[in-house]
Amino acid sequence: MAKSVVIVGGGTAGWMTASYLKASFGDRLAVTLVESKNVPTIGVGEASFSTIRHFFAYLGLEERDWMPECHATYKLAIRYDDWRAEGHHFYHPFERPRVVEGVSLADWWLHKKPSADYDRDCTVIAALCDAKRSPRGLDGRWLGPEFGEHDSGPMTRSTMAEQTTQFPYAYQFDATLLAKLLTRYGTDRGVRHVLDDVVATEVDESGSITHVRTKESGDLEGDLFIDCTGFRGMLLNKKLGVPFVSYQDTLPNDSAVALRVPMEMADQGMGPYTRSTAKEAGWIWTIPLIGRIGTGYVYASDYCTPDEAERTLREFWGPAADDLEANHIRMRIGRSENSWVNNCVAIGLSSGFVEPLESTGIFFIQNGIEQLVKHFPGGRDDDQLRKSYNRQVAHVMDGVREFLVLHYVAAKRNDNDYWRDAKTRAKPDGLAGRLEQWKAKLPDENTVYPYYHGFEPYSYTAMILGLGGLDVQSLPGLAMMDDVAATKELRLIRDQAKTQVEQLPSHWDYLEHVLNSK
Ligand code: FAD
Repeated sequence: MAKSVVIVGGGTAGWMTASYLKASFGDRLAVTLVESKNVPTIGVGEASFSTIRHFFAYLGLEERDWMPECHATYKLAIRYDDWRAEGHHFYHPFERPRVVEGVSLADWWLHKKPSADYDRDCTVIAALCDAKRSPRGLDGRWLGPEFGEHDSGPMTRSTMAEQTTQFPYAYQFDATLLAKLLTRYGTDRGVRHVLDDVVATEVDESGSITHVRTKESGDLEGDLFIDCTGFRGMLLNKKLGVPFVSYQDTLPNDSAVALRVPMEMADQGMGPYTRSTAKEAGWIWTIPLIGRIGTGYVYASDYCTPDEAERTLREFWGPAADDLEANHIRMRIGRSENSWVNNCVAIGLSSGFVEPLESTGIFFIQNGIEQLVKHFPGGRDDDQLRKSYNRQVAHVMDGVREFLVLHYVAAKRNDNDYWRDAKTRAKPDGLAGRLEQWKAKLPDENTVYPYYHGFEPYSYTAMILGLGGLDVQSLPGLAMMDDVAATKELRLIRDQAKTQVEQLPSHWDYLEHVLNSK
């Protein structure tokens, strides 16, 4: 059994890993984390998936224990602006469509087309987003019975794999503050924290890492080494020579420029969502936090220069962005061929990254550490554990790649080379066939990417119906079925949405209430 772990890197990946390993193994595992004083963290990565709640629950942290300290806000959906056409917006909500008479309400909707907006007609969350509502009442009460009974008391420890019912929200938070909180969590539980530069990695004749050498703190030895050095991939890619499989041919966005825009939310309210606004050569993210907006333009350098990108981002924000320093980032898009080789596991950007659309970076980290614990080495069949881990991690990233490519292919926007080329560019294996399938029948569990990757068929459906560029047909059989129940359900959703909007406080009022009651 591996008894000691050395984590190199103290960004979101490093500290999530250190704290999770301590929560899992306690004092039975010695954990050392070394991070550089000189190499900054990436400084972005602030929107998450609804499954992140399992991470906090695993650590025993409830919302009140970490949200205020990390300036966190709620995220019920991703709002897509201008992806279909200028001025149009729709949501990808954390809400599955209901099933009526054995058929998804999404199929009924496509058949009946009560309006042009699938999200407003078929989900309650779209209305909450438009009205900038909190998912909780001021008494902490939870949305409403149509979202299930998730919230009665503290969660028991579980991993993403156990999230079978839909949880309707995720969080947005300041990544630097979260790393700080996790540093405290980890060091309180015995993580040895070394602030120093790793200057060399030593390997024995079998290819296993024996120690990393630091500038001032000597050699750090361990049984297992976790590479959390970000895009550098210092241990896995650079030292062990593990190849990087690029996704650039199918996902061309390789650059970003980011700003932190101070913003008083009290006056203007705060949407409970991450916003993605389509632009000439990519898209701009808008992530509302307490006291500031995290924002950035993700673009393809084949279509746009860094100066043009920065200008576009500054124009988007107007005077609010004057005098703010822009952070230019070059992104490595793809994944390491294997994330675990010998005694080295890469987690975070060193393992892989697929551009920030749909906020999957932290989800990849969480998946990596949950799987690491489930595959922790030290028995007779470590080789098989490694293989199983590598397969699972690769499937997750390859699956997400497909889902992201769908966004660009299915977007109706077609007004320049960037958006036109997205329709004809090479697609990941299998996607072309699946697209044909989805035109005839909306995605279901048998027709999406066949391995777990965090996205269910309902997400594909929400994107296809929102983006509007795929010529999808309704199910012919529905024309011969009675639609009374479907009509009733659509009316019920409208009524439930209205009630929730009336009863729930604004997102901002709720967060302010929590902050004031700390
Ligand atoms: P980093 O933050 O780069 O950390 C690397 C660490 O390694 C640092 O501590 C550094 O000091 C250390 N290090 C490097 N070299 C050495 C050395 N020689 N010695 C010692 N230490 C060293 N994810 C989401 O889930 N949601 C989002 O909204 C989102 N948005 C993103 C937007 C952009 C533009 C990008 C690029 C990424 C985004 N991500 C997002 C991904 C997310 O930012 C990362 O997954 C997350 O921050 C983890 O980064 P990391 O810890 O792997 O790397």
